[in-house]
This record gives sequence, C-alpha cells and structure tokens, in this order.
Amino acid sequence: MAEMFYDDDADLSLIQGRKVAVIGYGSQGHAHSLCLRDSGVDVRVGLAEGSKSRAKAEDEGLRVLNVADAVKEADFVVILTPDQVQRHVWADHIAPNLNKGATILFGHGFNIRFGYITPPSDSDVIMVAPKGPGHIVRREFVDGRGVPVLVAVEQDASGQALEMAKSYAKALGGLRAGGIKTTFTEECETDLFGEQSVLCGGLSQLIMYGFETLTEAGYQPEVAYFECLHEVKLIVDLMVEGGIAKQRWSVSDTAEYGDYVSGPRVIDPHVKENMQAVLADITSGAFAKRFIDDQDNGGAEFTALREKGAQHPIEKTGKELRKLMAWLDTEQDADYVEGSA
Ligand code: NDP
Ligand code: MG
Ligand code: MG
Repeated sequence: MAEMFYDDDADLSLIQGRKVAVIGYGSQGHAHSLCLRDSGVDVRVGLAEGSKSRAKAEDEGLRVLNVADAVKEADFVVILTPDQVQRHVWADHIAPNLNKGATILFGHGFNIRFGYITPPSDSDVIMVAPKGPGHIVRREFVDGRGVPVLVAVEQDASGQALEMAKSYAKALGGLRAGGIKTTFTEECETDLFGEQSVLCGGLSQLIMYGFETLTEAGYQPEVAYFECLHEVKLIVDLMVEGGIAKQRWSVSDTAEYGDYVSGPRVIDPHVKENMQAVLADITSGAFAKRFIDDQDNGGAEFTALREKGAQHPIEKTGKELRKLMAWLDTEQDADYVEGSA
C-alpha cells in the first residue's frame, strides 16, 4: 500500500515561513498561487514580459514580477509553466537568479526525470502534483475540500524536503483529501503512460474507430456520435463513482453481457503488447526526446497532428449535435477545433 499523508501529518508553518515564487499562471499556476495566498503564504507570481496571464493574476490582487525578479526575491520556486518550455525558463531566468539553497518544486516530473533540468545540489527538489486540473484544485479548496496530490522528493539537501513538500501540499488543500508518496520517476512514467494509452490516446482512438465502423457501415453519423462519444461520459461517471463494477451494475443486462463477450474481442491481448511498447518508449526516454526535438523544431509534427485530428468527421458531427444540448457550453467549440484552447 502507498504511504499516505493527511492534514494532521503536515506543518503548515513550514511553507508559511518561506518566500514563494510561482512561475506560470495557467491551469496549475493560478490554483497554486491563490491557494497558497489564502493559506497565509508569502507568494509572488513570475511571468514573462508581455504575458497574457499577467492581468488575470493582478485582478486577483497578486504581485506579478518578471521571472528573474520573482526568483531573486524567493527562497522557494514553483515551476508551473508548460513542460516543454520549462528548460528554457530554467536556463534563461531561474538558474542565473536562484538564491543559494532555494527549494525547487514541480507539478510534474518530466524535466527532472528526463534530465532537461538539473538543479544545484544544495537545493531541495520536490513535487506536489494535484490529481486534477487547476480549476478543480481551486474550486475544491474554496469549498473546504481538496483534490488528492502526489508528493515526491528527488533531492533532499536540507533533510527537511519531505516535511516541506507535505506543508506545501497542505496549503493547496490536497491533504484534506490525502497525499500519496511517490517518486519523480513513478509519477512521470505513469502519468505519461496513462494519458497516452488510456485517457487521451487510447480513448480518443477507440471512439474514432467506433464512429468510423458505424458510419462506414451506413449508419447515420449523428446516431453514431451519441453511441460512441456522447455516452462515454455516462459510463465514465459510473466508473469513477464505483469502479467498473458499478458501471456493470447500472447498465442493462444486455449491455453487461455484451461487455463481457465483446470487450476482449475489441481490446485483445495484442493491445496490451502495444501498451507495453508505449511504456518502453516512455521509460527509455524515446517519447520525451521525440516531443522535445519536435518542440525545438517549432512543433511542426505536433501542429500537423493537431490539424489532422481536427479534420476527423466526428468533430463536424459533434459540433452540430452539441448545439441541441442546452446544458453544454458550446461557445468555445471553434477554439478547440483550431487548437487554441
Ligand atoms: P499551462 O499551459 O496552463 O500554463 C501556462 C502558464 O505558463 C501561463 O501563465 C503562461 O503565460 C506561462 N508561461 C508560458 N511560457 C512561459 C515562459 N516562457 N515564461 C514564463 N511563463 C510562461 O500549464 P499547466 O498548468 O497545464 O501545467 C503546468 C505544470 O503542471 C506542468 O508541469 C504540468 O505537467 C503540470 N500539471 C498540470 C495539470 C493540469 O491539469 N493542467 C495537472 C497536474 C500537473 P502566458 O499566459 O503568457 O502564456
Ligand atoms: Mg500529464
Ligand atoms: Mg446505447
């Protein structure tokens, strides 16, 4: 069983005694900054010159500085820019201005695990990774609850790194729900595997194949959309509430029987071999290298793949059908398809 931490296991005063710079004010950065402030922590936000996020942070009454100045003031630096830009922000603005012994905190292990950032040996290097998007982290904190967090220590120069990570996790509200002790390697490799094989990659491909199979057989795309995409949420909500067992308990006997006999035909043992190959590319660093090399090339492959994805007929069908469902927020639909969301 994993080692777990709760509010009573952490001392909030540790992080309250530090000067924290949160670099980035996006999904995670805004949630961390606001929760830290509301937990009585001395926080400033570091952003690039001309950042689009600056006004949002200032509207919340936060102090916003450029990254270098935020780092110079701080003895605790939180790196929450997108993973692919972290090594540039680190090299250009953080490392040259870092105070001796300052703690470095990440929300994901990517740049440490794959060696894109090497902090000085006298810094504690820790991770607090909420298991949810930033707006849920913030919403739960405000409601007096919390989103579970992963907590890890990569480098313990002070001998206090874990206590400090727990203190930070408590300030985010994460220990109201529970913190799970992990390592940078485990968090990073499982996070990449989950999003590639199951959550994003696997599920998207499964839905597209289902939609293609029905429409190529002559069924109407609108009907195929409901059966292969829209109803995913109903099933996933049941799984999240009560596991696969609750999903099988809730659906009709016809659906449950079909699950048992046809599920293993569609997702056959070969799929597991494919997953093992995906995992091997993650652990070897091949995936990270491909992603970062492409980013260094202006993201040419990424952009092409995004455009190809947006052209799939399921997107056109879905865009029209979602207008019929008044409870869905469809105003930003165009942004998603253009990839700017
Ligand atoms: P976002 O894409 O939401 O963050 C973007 C922020 O970074 C913006 O404020 C942006 O400013 C700023 N930024 C971009 N480039 C720079 C730069 N060169 N210098 C300074 N600031 C910059 O990121 P996320 O919050 O999604 O991810 C942050 C970290 O948290 C990642 O390590 C991620 O893996 C991890 N994480 C994310 C989760 C999520 O649900 N999103 C969940 C758990 C962990 P501007 O507005 O100017 O572009
Ligand atoms: Mg991830
Ligand atoms: Mg049905």
